[in-house]
Amino acid sequence: MIVAVDGPTASGKGTIARALAAHFGLPHLDTGLLYRAVGRQVSLAGGNPDDPADAAAACAFPESLLADPIMRSEEIGGLASRVSVHPAVRAALLARQRAFAAQPGGAVLDGRDIGTVIAPHADVKLYVTASVAARAQRRYREMQERGIATTLAAIEDDLIARDMRDSTRAEAPLKPADDAVLLDTSALDRDAAVAAAIAIVDRRRKEHPPTA
Ligand code: C5P
Repeated sequence: MIVAVDGPTASGKGTIARALAAHFGLPHLDTGLLYRAVGRQVSLAGGNPDDPADAAAACAFPESLLADPIMRSEEIGGLASRVSVHPAVRAALLARQRAFAAQPGGAVLDGRDIGTVIAPHADVKLYVTASVAARAQRRYREMQERGIATTLAAIEDDLIARDMRDSTRAEAPLKPADDAVLLDTSALDRDAAVAAAIAIVDRRRKEHPPTA
């Protein structure tokens, strides 16, 4: 079973994808981390994230970058969003994501274009969303817990800019697949959001049992 989980920044898609993977016993790939690694690598190499050649060169990032806690920062998220507009970057990361999705038994992948580009034949597609206010509030709490100084207004501005860039880019823009089920987590806490996602997957599997 392939489960595609897409949605904007801080919608809860990562939490939901991890919980679905644990619940259904499937491997999970956070595809945003790959774009974050490219963004980080550009900056380590002193390159320009808006330059297609610099960004493409950074796709050969060392695997050790993926485990670095700095990857979760807003700064790297912004760099990821900038490098991810370049078609060469998306192409360089495509095979790795498709191979992950195609492994025997299936997988859960989360990102922006899983249901539309990476795994258009996924068995279940979830599009997780939430209001800007709810997402900014969540991200703000997360930053406070991690002792990172920021303001709610700065986070809101960053989210809006990132949403705009991700959904208006020419290549693989953020948008729900036609057959995605929408899950709005604005008014849901973690447990309620996960329970709703599990119910969607269960329902979908009942309607469309996997073919052997
Ligand atoms: O999900 P996360 O916030 O870690 O993603 C960082 C950035 O990487 C996103 O803002 C988006 O621009 C890009 N991304 C993408 N396609 C994906 C996953 C992430 O373009 N499948």
